[in-house]
Amino acid sequence: MQSYLLRYGELVLKGRNRRNFVNELLAVLKPRLKILDGRFRSLHKKLIVTTDAPPEQVRALLSTIAGITSISPVYICSHDPDEIIECAWTLVKPFIGSGRSFSVRAKRPNKRFPIRSTELQTMVADSLYMRGLDLPVDLKNADLNLNISTEVHDTWLSVEKWPAMGGLPIQKRNVHGLLLSGGIDSPVAGYLIQKRGGQIQAIYFHTPPYTVEEAKDKVIELAQILSKFQNQLKLHIVSFTGVMKAIVADCDPSCMVVLSRRFMMRIATEIMRQESGHSIITGECLGQVASQTIENMGVIGEDVPYPILRPLIGMDKQEIIRVARRIGTYETSIQPFEDCCSLFAPAEPATRVSLRKIHRMESALKIDDLVSQALNQTETMILTPKFT
Ligand code: ATP
Ligand code: MG
Repeated sequence: MQSYLLRYGELVLKGRNRRNFVNELLAVLKPRLKILDGRFRSLHKKLIVTTDAPPEQVRALLSTIAGITSISPVYICSHDPDEIIECAWTLVKPFIGSGRSFSVRAKRPNKRFPIRSTELQTMVADSLYMRGLDLPVDLKNADLNLNISTEVHDTWLSVEKWPAMGGLPIQKRNVHGLLLSGGIDSPVAGYLIQKRGGQIQAIYFHTPPYTVEEAKDKVIELAQILSKFQNQLKLHIVSFTGVMKAIVADCDPSCMVVLSRRFMMRIATEIMRQESGHSIITGECLGQVASQTIENMGVIGEDVPYPILRPLIGMDKQEIIRVARRIGTYETSIQPFEDCCSLFAPAEPATRVSLRKIHRMESALKIDDLVSQALNQTETMILTPKFT
């Protein structure tokens, strides 16, 4: 069986609360271990997972768990120096001739181990070079680090380190409603909150027949990708046609975006009430499009009783795209099916809508009826990840 070392990030700083955070993390890990047919051991500041599953599958399933910063396949041997050297040799041999710079780093969490870390480093390195290792040494910034850790019962060796999600474990009770459109931004916004331990539920406003079914399928696909980071994700698909028709019939087109966003907030608020949620998340970013001004954001959030989280607020488009590519939502987001907001979008959206004007236009609308009709026509789905 192959073992893997899973390192906690910030989690180790949590003092007395650490136990709770670790339990949240294990709640995400355990169903994945079933898929991998693996086992785990919880140690002081890290976890060890053992499984025979293919390493790529292990990597896909474990690197998407919030609260884990990195993963290394580890090789476990006894405290016997000869055995440590033998194991080290097996690990580094495949890299001979690769020209990569190399260093050995030893740690001694078990202070009873008789050889000090620096001595062990030198001893192992000398033996490896005597056996024919030809890699240039770089003690500060090597491409390849052989890590040796003498633990209480055995010694762990690793050369690979896979970056993982980082952040804090998903706390199931901290529910956040993500306004998920089919674009590039909102999935990234949701991911950033998941990374900080938020359990996301996605809310999509669908406007048939103005938006095609493919637009909805695209959102379902995005929600499914985000489910990778929390095992299960609830998606609410709200029928928004009634609201959009009412707005288009009665209101100044330049205020459409703000008016429709205010309705999204009202409906999302009701959904969060039903789901005992804590916040509403959007993919808005200051100044990215004409309507995303600070003034409009103020008007959109006017009477929303939940905090509105806008994790992308200060990011440039290129930075957002980089995250979208990394988490695997980008390719789906750039499919061409238009969202209702781009279809109804006025040629010149107002950049500074006045609240008074908005209130005047809204007084002509039957707000409560429109909201409850939309809620009555909401379809809910539970999505689970596809790990390939
Ligand atoms: P995105 O790339 O996320 O679509 P965007 O840059 O296109 O964002 P807007 O269209 O102005 O920006 O939308 C701002 C935010 O409003 C979105 O990030 C999303 O959170 C929310 N939103 C917009 N349209 C919808 C929709 N149809 N369903 C759910 N949320 C939406
Ligand atoms: Mg959009």
